[in-house]
Amino acid sequence: MSEAPHPSQALSEVLEDLRRHLLWQQEEGGRFLQVDARVAAEARAAGLPRPAALARPPVASKPAPAPQAPLPAAPPPPPRAAAPQAERPPASRVLTPAPPALIEVPAQTRPYAGPLPGVVDGERPLLDDIRRELGDCRRCKLCTGRKNIVFGSGNPRAELVFVGEGPGETEDQQGVPFVGAAGQLLTKMIEAMGYRRDDIYICNVVKCRPPGNRNPEPDEVAACEPFLRAQLKSIQPKAIVALGKFAAQTLLRDTTPITRLRGTWRQYEGIQLMPTFHPAYLLRQPAEKRKAWEDLQQVMKFFGKPSGQRG
Ligand code: URA
Repeated sequence: MSEAPHPSQALSEVLEDLRRHLLWQQEEGGRFLQVDARVAAEARAAGLPRPAALARPPVASKPAPAPQAPLPAAPPPPPRAAAPQAERPPASRVLTPAPPALIEVPAQTRPYAGPLPGVVDGERPLLDDIRRELGDCRRCKLCTGRKNIVFGSGNPRAELVFVGEGPGETEDQQGVPFVGAAGQLLTKMIEAMGYRRDDIYICNVVKCRPPGNRNPEPDEVAACEPFLRAQLKSIQPKAIVALGKFAAQTLLRDTTPITRLRGTWRQYEGIQLMPTFHPAYLLRQPAEKRKAWEDLQQVMKFFGKPSGQRG
């Protein structure tokens, strides 16, 4: 559950960029790769230098800045810039349709399109139906070590939902999210915002404890993510606070590090989402609490709550 950059982080991020680029290529039917390869082969055969149109623009490392709250609508994706005419290879070597310049790979990838458990005909589901659908879940390997499934707790009609990473030991024992040390800090944060725990709803990306509190693995997140999304479809909050990188990156489908995501409003399915640091990280790095409090103050401002002092 660490927020500090791991030595393998840079490599993972490069690999993730590559994966997203390949996914995008797959979505485009490999069109740009094929065009690249054929134009390059033709250029080579003609003894020409690499066509300028194939020069790749730098890949974006940072998403377009999101507007501040309240957001009227998600910003439209950046337009795909056409390659400047002067840089295109001669017409005889241009395939039809003409290849656009390779575009930046956006940090926000395709929207989630998987099934939502408990959701029938796109209707608003009940939390009870989603919990029933989850059952005695065996969808991933976390089931083997858990004592309890930690589904979520709080107001099923909450205006604000906090999403964490996954249960720790105390949560696993009690079947309730955020009741251990990090949970006690979260409770203080919630109360400092002018709420009681019962007013809001708290849940996690994964519902079973990862052994030894390790990070949840991609297959575990993938197995549990539909339940989190269904929960949010049921509750329909006005805002979500994503606690830490797993919550923020999973909901936003964005691999930007939490250090860059935090503090800026984003949108999840039309709902305001504020990424901030995970309380477990704040316990290890108390100096970062000030930033987290600034993030929560933005949420309070969104709800018209007085800013007050930190509790
Ligand atoms: N950390 C989390 O992310 N969730 C919990 O429920 C407890 C600790």
